[in-house]
Amino acid sequence: MAHILTEEDKWFIDLNRKDPITHEEFHPGDEVVVCRACRCVQLNDVWEMGPAGCKYCGGTEASGDFDRDFIEHKVSGSTINTAGPIRITRKKKKKLWPYLAAGAAALVLIVLLMLYLF
Ligand SMILES: [Zn+2]
Repeated sequence: MAHILTEEDKWFIDLNRKDPITHEEFHPGDEVVVCRACRCVQLNDVWEMGPAGCKYCGGTEASGDFDRDFIEHKVSGSTINTAGPIRITRKKKKKLWPYLAAGAAALVLIVLLMLYLF
């Protein structure tokens, strides 16, 4: 359902629309989804975040194609149902140090126990 913006979508990029949630401008290469209900275009990452769907109107159906007429006649009057911009982490980095610290602590405890017992 997602559409990847290319140079052919210059008409859309020239509209200077921004993602309603992240307020990021769109660029060729961006993966976007068009909401069938309110016709707003948003980043695929935003659409897929949490329960998949339009973060603008709450619609869950994406438009199948990236149609100029459809998109330009955006339905107005919808209100943003999310407070403030959301930061998207595209890559989740796992923090290793808590595990390492816990492992080291356990090892020290075991060594102390061994010393105490033997
Ligand atoms: Zn919508």
